[in-house]
Amino acid sequence: MIKLKRDVMSGFNSYGALGVRQSELVTTAIKDGPADEDSVNARLLIRAGYIRKLMAGTYSYLPLGQRVLAKIEAIIREEISRIGSQEILMPALQPSEPWQQTGRWEKMGKILFKLKGAGDRDLTLGSTHEEIVTPLIGAFIKSYRDLPVSVFQIQTKFRNEKRAKSGLLRGREFRMKDMYSFHATEEELDAYYETAKQAYENVFRRCGLGDITYLTYASGGDFCRYSHEYQTITPYGEDLIYICEDCNLAVNKELIDELEHACPSCGNKELQEQTSIEVGNIFKLMTRYSSAFGLSFQDERGQRQDNVYMGCYGIGSSRLIGAITETSHDENGIIWPKQVAPYDVHLISLARNSEEKVKAEEIYQALQDQGREVLYDNREKISPGAKFSESDLIGIPTRMVVSSRSLKAGVVEIKDRKTGEVKNLKLGILLTDIERCKI
Ligand code: ATP
Ligand code: MG
Repeated sequence: MIKLKRDVMSGFNSYGALGVRQSELVTTAIKDGPADEDSVNARLLIRAGYIRKLMAGTYSYLPLGQRVLAKIEAIIREEISRIGSQEILMPALQPSEPWQQTGRWEKMGKILFKLKGAGDRDLTLGSTHEEIVTPLIGAFIKSYRDLPVSVFQIQTKFRNEKRAKSGLLRGREFRMKDMYSFHATEEELDAYYETAKQAYENVFRRCGLGDITYLTYASGGDFCRYSHEYQTITPYGEDLIYICEDCNLAVNKELIDELEHACPSCGNKELQEQTSIEVGNIFKLMTRYSSAFGLSFQDERGQRQDNVYMGCYGIGSSRLIGAITETSHDENGIIWPKQVAPYDVHLISLARNSEEKVKAEEIYQALQDQGREVLYDNREKISPGAKFSESDLIGIPTRMVVSSRSLKAGVVEIKDRKTGEVKNLKLGILLTDIERCKI
């Protein structure tokens, strides 16, 4: 492994490495939470230095926040690619015409941000992309051989939400993965829809939300009976769902009366009411958009078919950050699930002399050489107590402390952020064989 030397030209110590020195991190945690945030997620994420608010509903992602977002989106990208969807990227800046064509320019009302472009042209900022993707992909669908096809993007969306006061849960500018599938028959759409459910379960499990996220029956609109939402249980969620513990699914409030308060799968009437937040949703659009844009294809017999069946599938990647924070924290700060944490290890140096400092540096390098992402608190003149409470606030899964005492004993102290379990690891093993340390 190449040891990274200080880059003289740029003055950065850690350019290109898997870790960052906290002395160089552009953010620091702040003691007091912002007064104008009423949600747990925004307060914690701002205090810990993940995000900053620009105005109601828009946030900047600082280095820690951007890393979490990138990890969540990488998980989504992997799981969605695995079910054969291909990644594209469509414009956020869109003309009004396709929206006029589906009637949604008026129907969506105030939620669409509308603006004027050059030549006084009516434009909108993309809130969703059915109007763009349907003619875009439709142009490539000529024969039954071109179907099925599925594309997705991970992108910034814009919605002029009436109230944007739940931090990352409801932004006016937010991140979303949206996938769109096109099929020759309804059966084929049904089959793909089930595959998508699998991918969604994988995503939420890997984001640490598997146990508290329910497939939830919701209204299907004009064209099919149900759509499905993925609802994560959280005390401050905006939605109400009714859970069937036997079937591990739920029913949204809007459907519960229609279903006479019974589980749509087993008929159980003992449903548990919970507040929740929608982290994803999947919807059979049927031919709603494909017919609006006149999609058609030639079938096996060379005959023209006018029905292209579509599905759409969304996940709010920035809302997921909010949902994870809301559901995984304690009084001291955030507790990140391993797969989405900004770093694997928070290495805290309490070194007091140059010999100890060299040792701490050596550990920092060795962890990175062995593939671990490290936030390295190398800062001097900050008390151990302050470092520890900042570490709890930031919420990296493993805290590792290097001190005079531990170095004398030939160990480093490890603390698990989630369980609070403390143990000592032998320095020799840590430096050379991290796999054995199971961190
Ligand atoms: P909601 O019911 O919460 O308003 P929606 O049904 O309008 O959401 P979709 O259009 O299906 O949402 O969008 C797909 C996903 O995008 C949602 O499941 C959610 O995770 C996320 N999302 C939607 N609106 C927002 C928002 N304002 N801020 C953050 N994420 C959002
Ligand atoms: Mg919804």
